[in-house]
Amino acid sequence: MIIYAVGTTVKKEDAINIIPNKGENFTRLVRDYNEDIFEKTGRQPLAFVRTFGCQQNVSDSEKLKGMLFAMGYAMAQGPETADLILFNTCAVRENAEERVLGNVGALKSLKESNRGLITGLCGCMMQQPHIAAKVHAHYPYVDLIFGTHALGRFPELLWRRLGGDKRIVDLEEACSDPLREDIPVSREGNIGAWVPVMYGCDNFCTYCVVPFVRGRERSRELCVILDEVKGLVEKGFKEIHLLGQNVNSYGRTLEPGVSFSELLRRINAIPGDFRIRFMTSHPKDCTHELIDTIAECEKVCRHIHLPVQSGSDRILSAMNRRYTAEKYLSLIDYARGKIKGVAFTSDIIVGFPGETDADFAETLSLIERVRYHSLYTFIYSKREGTKAALMEDPATREDKRRRFDMLTQIQRRIGQDIYDSLVGTTCRVLAEGPGKTGQGMLAGRTEQGVIVEFEGDEALVGRFAEVSVTKAMLWAVAGKAVTGGSLF
Ligand code: SAH
Ligand code: SF4
Repeated sequence: MIIYAVGTTVKKEDAINIIPNKGENFTRLVRDYNEDIFEKTGRQPLAFVRTFGCQQNVSDSEKLKGMLFAMGYAMAQGPETADLILFNTCAVRENAEERVLGNVGALKSLKESNRGLITGLCGCMMQQPHIAAKVHAHYPYVDLIFGTHALGRFPELLWRRLGGDKRIVDLEEACSDPLREDIPVSREGNIGAWVPVMYGCDNFCTYCVVPFVRGRERSRELCVILDEVKGLVEKGFKEIHLLGQNVNSYGRTLEPGVSFSELLRRINAIPGDFRIRFMTSHPKDCTHELIDTIAECEKVCRHIHLPVQSGSDRILSAMNRRYTAEKYLSLIDYARGKIKGVAFTSDIIVGFPGETDADFAETLSLIERVRYHSLYTFIYSKREGTKAALMEDPATREDKRRRFDMLTQIQRRIGQDIYDSLVGTTCRVLAEGPGKTGQGMLAGRTEQGVIVEFEGDEALVGRFAEVSVTKAMLWAVAGKAVTGGSLF
């Protein structure tokens, strides 16, 4: 394995070539080092991991923390007290990158006040050679720079840094060990668990950087996922979130192939009172069989996050989404006919290159027709290396902002109508923790993903409760637990 900066302006002599010692257990080496420190100082070293971006990054950070615990670190409450700070970065839009870079500057003063501090940037942003080169050139106080494919090599990179190497850059482009199942995971909380079912993406939507920074699609073995979910349910987890950039194409890279529907059915058959959620579904691969499976499987939540991106066929084609608005709407109709009370949520990109007011009007009419529970809306962000970055983009910033505001306003009304219609109903809520609206309030979600603030005993946290809804707010509904505390 060679660790070096690929295709960047990072000078070869600044990067490091490592031919690893086969069989070397780097986790143990770092732990030994930390145990020595503990003996000398009486203090366990502390690490702080900050996650930017999506649930896939949250899941990767759970692995980073799992590795850190195994290497003898405890977690710091904040960056000020940490001996090691790691930022797990996001590249999907420019503002995510700006947020990361805006926070990197603070590492300099932390390093000045703590000479032994080790700092690192990893994840999607670092997998882009031009960004890694920028970090390398302008942020000399960042010690570790590694991309998504190097996640499993983190103990080795850290050990080399602790051993005195000035700076470690690992930007290997191919995933040399694509589906390592031996990385420890330290989960956040004990109610919901993120379970990746596949990594990477082969779809190359023209605006999207994900296939470039996460690599080709690869699925985890069915039996490995089933064992993981069984273990989680036995530990008492109540919500299993299956993760992938396009879960609907799960299993295509496996021999023999397995479908996502089969995976859902097998997880649904695991005994226990728990829910199954999944994201993200690509409409082009969302089959009637999948919708029938969701309808049949009582543990699968009646909620489908089905990003449409645009309501204009012209724009959908320029985005390389490979479905039309009509095909999308027919899927929605089919699902509504099969799954009683199903909720839809979606992602929309406003201001894709070449989008006109007429195209945007088609997006609005699709939204009125579907009536989503909620939307994640984004203004198009140009990503270097993608096809869309080369397209003509005549609409002004103001045009895009105006469309974005209009979309937000319309969705607010639709969401409000849906929430209003819930008043007077009773719904099953998984209580996740304290609420935001006052003392004695708990917060949780319905199967459809609606946030519910409700009066109830603290002992309900981690359990399902029946809640009678009395009020609709802009971002949630509120009510009171009428029964609750399923002991499963
Ligand atoms: N794999 C998922 C989502 C990946 S990124 C899917 O296909 O749905 C999450 C969302 O970010 C996308 O659905 C899209 O709406 C948005 N997004 C991705 N690239 C973007 C860009 N360049 N500009 C603005 N939004 C973008
Ligand atoms: Fe990006 Fe499209 Fe893949 Fe989603 S399906 S990650 S939007 S390329």
